[in-house]
Amino acid sequence: MPKTIYVDNAATTRVPQQVIDHMVTFMGENYGNPSSLYSKGREAKAALEASREKIAELLNCQPKEIYFTSCGSESDNWAIRGIAERNASKGKHIITSAVEHHAVLHTLKALEKKGYEVTYLGVNADGIVDVEDFRNAIRPDTILATVMYANNEIGTIQPIKEMCEIAHQNKIPFFTDAVQAVGHVDIDLKDLGVDMLSFSGHKFGSPKGVGALYVKSGTLLNNLIEGGGQEKRKRAGTENVASIAAMAKALELSLENAGEKRKKILEMREKLIDGLLEIPYTRLNGSRDKRLPGNVNVSIEFIEGESLILWLDIMGICASTGSACSTASLDPSHVLLAIGLPHEVAHGSLRISIDENNTPEECDYIINSVKSTVEKLRMMSPLYNNR
Ligand SMILES: *Cc1c(COP(=O)(O)O)cnc(C)c1O
Repeated sequence: MPKTIYVDNAATTRVPQQVIDHMVTFMGENYGNPSSLYSKGREAKAALEASREKIAELLNCQPKEIYFTSCGSESDNWAIRGIAERNASKGKHIITSAVEHHAVLHTLKALEKKGYEVTYLGVNADGIVDVEDFRNAIRPDTILATVMYANNEIGTIQPIKEMCEIAHQNKIPFFTDAVQAVGHVDIDLKDLGVDMLSFSGHKFGSPKGVGALYVKSGTLLNNLIEGGGQEKRKRAGTENVASIAAMAKALELSLENAGEKRKKILEMREKLIDGLLEIPYTRLNGSRDKRLPGNVNVSIEFIEGESLILWLDIMGICASTGSACSTASLDPSHVLLAIGLPHEVAHGSLRISIDENNTPEECDYIINSVKSTVEKLRMMSPLYNNR
């Protein structure tokens, strides 16, 4: 099976041809600026608003509650800074979880330097926040709660609706980073109840560099980017019409036949988990059932995640290590440490994130490739041989 097997959809996704075709019209013929008054501009404006309406319909909110941004990170920064700055006179306490994406964690770190106080809720061994811990963390000066919908490393889905209800009983706005969830699980914003929710196109089949923030009407937050009057004067910058149109198309496609697709993905996920857990000294990270359909994350003892990834690459497999070791740092993933893994186990982690384009045959090939590579790596490991 020599062709590339792409199983890193949590990092980014391929752009379907239908999405590319749709996008290209707004780069070729329809290149107008949506703020211009002549027909070319009005056409672009119509495409922009049609995209907003489509997304609002798919997520069950009002079109005016969708604000387009340049990425998931921008949406996360905007939601958190916007609420924190707007409400600084009321209080400076924020509640979050220990397993958030860096777009959230680093924004909060920056606010701590400005005098804000942040409570980082721990998670259980499955990576789930305890709703009672959340309730107990609330203080009179709490101005924001921000907990991610689904984790990007271990796929765990949080009890967002329950926490949101508690936050609202205490008049605290609730934001969720749903970048891993939108397009992959059903999200009904009216039912969920959150005040803000972020998502990013490239995690569900649009090109990189476009995202959005849902802001429930009536929620007041400061601007992050100042300039022209775009996005109802809340987010300046000439709209990226082509990418926004692509994002709306991609969301529509990813939610088409969702039940069927997810059943197929789920079957492959279970096959992968069962197959990989046959390797001795291996554990599944994250909840088995409260989990994104396409996410597999295992820790394999006595190996280095990076070596495994490089060997898998040679075998044509694009996967990721659960330990987000950048070249600059050798710290293991904060998510894997938060679920209680020791450092050395966290270093030997593998994340596989599949979609409906993968096949059961590819899963078999992946399982066999991981098994043979782990055997090879362990043969060279003094730790394994002296265990
Ligand atoms: C990818 C991701 C982000 C960042 O989105 P970008 O569009 O890449 O900036 C934020 N949060 C989560 C959970 C993610 O998976």
